[in-house]
Amino acid sequence: MTECLPGIYEIKLTSDQGTTRQIQIFLIPGKAGERSLMIDTGYRKKNCLSIMEHVLETLGIEYSQLDIFLTHKHYDHTGLASFYESQGARLFMNEEENRHPYDCLYYNHDQGDGEDQYQVLRSVGVTPEETPEIWEMFMEIRRRVESNRGWEYEVQPFAFFPVQPGQEFCYGDYTFRAVSLKGHTYGQMGLFDSDKRVLFSGDQIIDGIVPIVGTTYPDEHLLQAYFESLSRLKHEYGDCLLFPAHGGSIREVRRIADRIIFSYLDKTDMIKRILDNSRREMTVREIGCTAYGMRDIPEDTAEFVKLKMVMSKTFSCLEYLVDQDFVIRTEKEGIFYWKSVLL
Ligand SMILES: [Zn+2]
Repeated sequence: MTECLPGIYEIKLTSDQGTTRQIQIFLIPGKAGERSLMIDTGYRKKNCLSIMEHVLETLGIEYSQLDIFLTHKHYDHTGLASFYESQGARLFMNEEENRHPYDCLYYNHDQGDGEDQYQVLRSVGVTPEETPEIWEMFMEIRRRVESNRGWEYEVQPFAFFPVQPGQEFCYGDYTFRAVSLKGHTYGQMGLFDSDKRVLFSGDQIIDGIVPIVGTTYPDEHLLQAYFESLSRLKHEYGDCLLFPAHGGSIREVRRIADRIIFSYLDKTDMIKRILDNSRREMTVREIGCTAYGMRDIPEDTAEFVKLKMVMSKTFSCLEYLVDQDFVIRTEKEGIFYWKSVLL
């Protein structure tokens, strides 16, 4: 644990599974008799929990006096949320994070995915007829979760207080307001102290990597929303100190935001060229595998997880290309097909 600013403590948690191997959890102890704040929870792992329980004890924070702000609902940020809730902590999250029963990127336990998963997979071109091997990999995970054998991307259900943009969170010497950081997920939020010029920014920007913009459902315009929120980030928070959930703290907001914007534009341009040169319509899965140089059938779990990521990133880029009138989307029997306007 390190005190990264007066009264703000940072705890690094690690995991050997999943796509992110390290996350920073932030704690702001309240003044005597007041509530304390935790930002995100980290992975659902015994060693993470014991580190956090030791830290809470050291700082004298009881669960009954603990509030937890969840920036977004991914397994690395909400893994321990259900446990903390069971111990009496209060959770806060944007309700938009729960808007769909199934997400390509994590396994949402809350609403019972039912038929939804089948439709989602179909829409990107994963079907029992066309891609039986990939379909079976998804079904194996489904069975694992249903029979309680676990999966690192699984998020256990938890109740939370819905957060509105502008909502105030006061702890210790800090007064934060919740701000929308849409893009990485539909409803990601951060906490901003305008006097101290500090922003807890979740996965909005990370030094050295390009955060995934993962689309699962059509017409969400997430990449467009991400570009807009990165532009706001540069203009409104360009002079701030950012504490992202992964990687080091960030002073050079503009440089890092620009690198991410250009990386997405490059990938979007590549996807446009793939479709311009294709003589037929393609599915999200086919375009993604071509754009990211992946083989058709994943060879192991790591490749399978990568394929999930690639499909949802590609979906985001394709929606952006449709919005910019470069690409046309049609639908046949639940499968989306994409083609260039030139075809
Ligand atoms: Zn994350």
